[in-house]
Amino acid sequence: MTGYNFAAGPAVLPRPVLKKVQAELLNYHDTQMSILEISHRSALFDEIYTAAKERVLKLLKLASDDYDVLFLQGGGTLQFAMVPLNLAVNHHRVAYANTGHWSTRAIAEAKRIPGLQVDEVTNAGPDFTTIPEVPALAAGKYDYLHITTNNTIHGTAYQDLPVTDVPLVGDLSSNFLGQVYDFTKFDLLYAGAQKNLAPAGLTIVVVKRELLNKESNLPSMLNYPALAKKNSTLNTPPVFQIYVANLVLQWLDEQGGVAAAEEQNKRKSALIYDFLDNSKLFTNKVVPDARSLTNIPFTTGKEELDQQFIAAANQAGLLNLKGHRSVGGMRASLYNAMPYAGAVALRDFMAKFEQEH
Ligand SMILES: *Cc1c(COP(=O)(O)O)cnc(C)c1O
Repeated sequence: MTGYNFAAGPAVLPRPVLKKVQAELLNYHDTQMSILEISHRSALFDEIYTAAKERVLKLLKLASDDYDVLFLQGGGTLQFAMVPLNLAVNHHRVAYANTGHWSTRAIAEAKRIPGLQVDEVTNAGPDFTTIPEVPALAAGKYDYLHITTNNTIHGTAYQDLPVTDVPLVGDLSSNFLGQVYDFTKFDLLYAGAQKNLAPAGLTIVVVKRELLNKESNLPSMLNYPALAKKNSTLNTPPVFQIYVANLVLQWLDEQGGVAAAEEQNKRKSALIYDFLDNSKLFTNKVVPDARSLTNIPFTTGKEELDQQFIAAANQAGLLNLKGHRSVGGMRASLYNAMPYAGAVALRDFMAKFEQEH
């Protein structure tokens, strides 16, 4: 029996993809080798890399003349440093919208960079249950505005991107390819793969080509132009992760792309939110127009009862519903690979638990 994995990350992957990985694991495309053994300097890998890159651009509706895609390591967290190192080179001043734990981490990393002025232009704390409007920022004063499109821990998300005269950078880790935005508004967006795309060990960076034309003296592994010039293979890339990402991208494309994924994520999350809104036991504190499609925190308000719920759900095959340690309670992550039936099973289980308590 297989359970439904509601973990926030590493997270559920599409079953058809896992089955394909299993089927071709020992002998990749008649090479008599496993994908785990093939060289990143092989034509086989080139093919996977090119296909994955083209699929990311297609799914985001971005032109390859305008944007490049990098497949890097170091997680979303390394991007917290690479973004300012590479982009904060004209005004040495950057703006951050602080909408939660991961924005706070991004700000803290930027502040470690000598000579950089980091302005927190909004702060949704301490509860982080809303997405405040970003104030107008003077063009020519900031190198970029950084936002976190979906706040994995607090369960909030931007419904529309802020309108700004400053280059826009986004951490899309937890709703990458799961929610539609006008991606052409971004100068750069990034996402750790382990939330909605692939196993941990891979980070996607989508960046405007004009930002890659400049020479930079940064160490090469931190240097977007240097990495882009070598197709992200300055050193050995995570071949297996890129291979799985490519299969997930193909699967998503076959499902109808980001718009279809968003539709499905809306259906799944609406089931849970509707239940929560009418529940006498469970609550979710997020302001309705800031609700995330992919991460839903909720609680009974009683720690003991929350723990009882998590244990009972686990028994019933509804796995990893424990909330992040900083907020407690429960959290259901409903990424692209979570089937509708998983959301139904969770809703039904919550209803049964409510009746019994
Ligand atoms: C998980 C997460 C990160 C951190 O990702 P790592 O790959 O673990 O470094 C950053 N931002 C957001 C929004 C996340 O959800």
